[in-house]
Amino acid sequence: MDYKNVKGTHDVILNEADAYSFIEAILRNVAERFNFKEFRIPVLESTSLFNRSVGESSDIVRKEMYTFLDKGDREITLRPEFTAGIIRSFVNAKLYANASLPVKAHYVGPVFRYERPQLGRYRQFNQFGVELIGATSLYHDLEVILMGYEALRALHLDNVKILINTLGDQNSRDAYRNALKEHFIPVIDNMCPDCKNRLELNPLRILDCKVKEDKQYIQSAPKIKDFLSDESKERFEIIKDVLKALEIPYEIDDTLVRGLDYYSEVVFEYHYTTQTGINYGAIGAGGHYSSLVKEIGGPSLDGVGLSFGVERLYSVLRDDNLLPDFNELRPLHAIFLPLSEKTSDAAFALATLARRNGFISDIDYSYSKVGTLLKKASKANADFAIILGEEEMEQSNVNIKNLHLNSQETISLNEVCDYLKESYEKMIRQQEEEIEMNLDEAKEYES
Ligand code: AMP
Repeated sequence: MDYKNVKGTHDVILNEADAYSFIEAILRNVAERFNFKEFRIPVLESTSLFNRSVGESSDIVRKEMYTFLDKGDREITLRPEFTAGIIRSFVNAKLYANASLPVKAHYVGPVFRYERPQLGRYRQFNQFGVELIGATSLYHDLEVILMGYEALRALHLDNVKILINTLGDQNSRDAYRNALKEHFIPVIDNMCPDCKNRLELNPLRILDCKVKEDKQYIQSAPKIKDFLSDESKERFEIIKDVLKALEIPYEIDDTLVRGLDYYSEVVFEYHYTTQTGINYGAIGAGGHYSSLVKEIGGPSLDGVGLSFGVERLYSVLRDDNLLPDFNELRPLHAIFLPLSEKTSDAAFALATLARRNGFISDIDYSYSKVGTLLKKASKANADFAIILGEEEMEQSNVNIKNLHLNSQETISLNEVCDYLKESYEKMIRQQEEEIEMNLDEAKEYES
């Protein structure tokens, strides 16, 4: 039997896993600078949560959810996004009464969508995001847009493009929906089956259609900006003004409607094209929502959130060489090489001591020839090899080899940790001296 990973899923291992942790740590750090606090919520939710919130007309609910009956006949769905679950946890914990508003949550974890796998598109992928629940000011919208932008800057992704649009308030959207319906009814028979469905369910979703032949009808469709209430118009103007004043690069995209039904007012996406011209799709996206908290059983509160795709961030950072060298960041300080079973006990005890003292250490129990063991140790990128031969051990000694300098010394068993400590302290001193010398040289050059 040949076991393969399930279609649309992928393994994140070794340096790639380091990269994911690195990306998530930076995102978390920036979110915490904006005072967002961590929420950890279940992967399993009741299906009805998403039907109501993400919306019956969204592609996610219509065809992409992993839904099943559990052994107690409950309808369960593997979360296809986080926002609904975060709001559910907010409502369940009655944070609207027990915490001061807004409540600011950040989260990270896997989400599941039965989509067609392709470049930048998986069936199980990871999202990092934030939700600000209890938004009362348009500066709350701006705070979330900014948090996303600062997070991308912290990852050294310059040249990020932010696309923004407004979907207006309920009245604006109702008027716009009617206008779209009127526009599409005469041509709907020429459009794709999805669009036919969307016409009744939610004509706004037609604007998101990716079918080439449908573009002509979409381009000539009425624009939301002509249906905005004065309040929504002013709100959007101020958001644009503040972004401009902060020199945040944005573009208005009046076809941007987002794939989830709960958005109103401002919506946005972050895009990045790699130096080789690859676009993996939006690296992050979000927007404002007005009725979601109420729909999920809470009071009438507004919110705003965004979500990054960790896979897509990884892909662009890898392609543009913006990830650190994880072998260097996580070195192997010492590898212990018992030359026979007889010295394994001592190797195990020494490695334990070294690990307790903070040295990343490993033991090779293959009992090969010294030359072979040392070659393996160099390949593993170890700094020091500690060779435990029977003869030396009789004198309570070991040979310690600096694998970078290719120098070897015989030292007492009890000195191994001190030897490592001193060696690293010396290395740090040398590095500091080098930096100082370079600075001095630079100063001399300047004067
Ligand atoms: P959404 O929840 O649809 O607003 O998506 C938020 C972000 O998740 C997107 O901007 C992408 O970066 C990422 N994303 C969405 N769908 C996928 C997918 N199928 N595979 C990988 N990343 C995705």
